[in-house]
Amino acid sequence: MLFMVDFGFRVQAKDKKTKARVGEIMTPHGIIQTPAFVPVGTQGAVKSLTPEEIRECGTQLFFVNTYHTYLRPGLDVIKKFGGLHQFMGWDGPIITDSGGFQVFSLGRRGKGAEVADENLDPSSVSGSRFHGLDTKKKMKPDKILSAPRAIASLVKISDEGAEFRSHWDGTKHFFTPEKAMEYQWVLGSDIHIAFDDCTPYGLTHEKARISMDRTHRWAARSLSANAKIKMQNAKLGKPYQALYGSVQGSIYEDLRKESAKFISTLDFDGIAIGGVSVGETKKEMVDVLDWVVPLLPVEKPRHLLGVGEIDDIFALVARGMDTFDCVQPTRLARVGCVYINAASRKWEMDITKKACAEDIRPIEEGCECYACQHFSRAYIHHLFRVKELLAYRLATIHNIHFINSLMEDIRRAIEDGSLLDLTKQWL
Ligand SMILES: [Zn+2]
Repeated sequence: MLFMVDFGFRVQAKDKKTKARVGEIMTPHGIIQTPAFVPVGTQGAVKSLTPEEIRECGTQLFFVNTYHTYLRPGLDVIKKFGGLHQFMGWDGPIITDSGGFQVFSLGRRGKGAEVADENLDPSSVSGSRFHGLDTKKKMKPDKILSAPRAIASLVKISDEGAEFRSHWDGTKHFFTPEKAMEYQWVLGSDIHIAFDDCTPYGLTHEKARISMDRTHRWAARSLSANAKIKMQNAKLGKPYQALYGSVQGSIYEDLRKESAKFISTLDFDGIAIGGVSVGETKKEMVDVLDWVVPLLPVEKPRHLLGVGEIDDIFALVARGMDTFDCVQPTRLARVGCVYINAASRKWEMDITKKACAEDIRPIEEGCECYACQHFSRAYIHHLFRVKELLAYRLATIHNIHFINSLMEDIRRAIEDGSLLDLTKQWL
């Protein structure tokens, strides 16, 4: 393992007609070519795939949830291995979140709000980012592979932090900005995120302001706690872990702009935009990017939390985002929904449908993924029908490869000035 760099980012090319940019994020575990898609391994694994397969699909950066790994297997176990890289057998860059999103999602459960984390409750799945799919029906197979139904949970938020009950066993836990930093250093992620107050969709302006102000106070506390651990770990010769600040402010222009300005003034290595993909419309999500991104420092990398449908990808890239994580490609794969490059704007094909039963073609002609190189639609259709585990693996491999290869095309298009042409071909 080489620890040649701490952390760095450089913009290599800019699109003249949009705010899109191509760049490189340097981390102790490797370089990330941006813009890049980041698959989510919620519980320390991209469901059903080995790290080698994840890499072969073109993945450069792996997203792991602090909340889930904190509860299971627990930080003591991960500490014994010296961090997530060794525990998971993944030697590439890892990004972890602060845990805030899951904690606050728990608090919103049962109040009619959407829960975008399937692992908190497999039967409750975000709808806003799954148009065109009979999501509830389609998500049923996930119950087999996912966590048990969550038990009733309680979250108490104060300025000090957030107290919550584990969705596994009801035990009480307390997350603070300081603890979120400590935990993520134990995880050893290359990029970690400041503890933030993640608000649900539909919050009043007044409540959104209270929450945003809290996020800002927590950002400052995260930074100062992080600085202390960073110094101690540097003395021990441990690899650098970059810290991103999180911009909040719900769907309100004044708050989002205020938050973007405030977080930009702090000494973070990069900026994450949070509080999206919580039930807002696509237009509202794009508005948030239009307000926020122009106010962010150009020299710092930007990560968008939890967004990544095909049309979202073009929108977020054109607005200057560098990385984004999304569960959708893997979640869809497990219910038999595979990506295809269709001119009809329908990029998802249900391979479990009868139409695929005798189809000798691969999922996508010309796709270089392992699934398309070796198997037909008919075979994968059959695997789904008989619930063979290989079905989930092949569909997941294809979907991750598909998005990663789209990102490669996007990077190339930004470099040669043809991003708008590529966008037209797809949208
Ligand atoms: Zn494929």
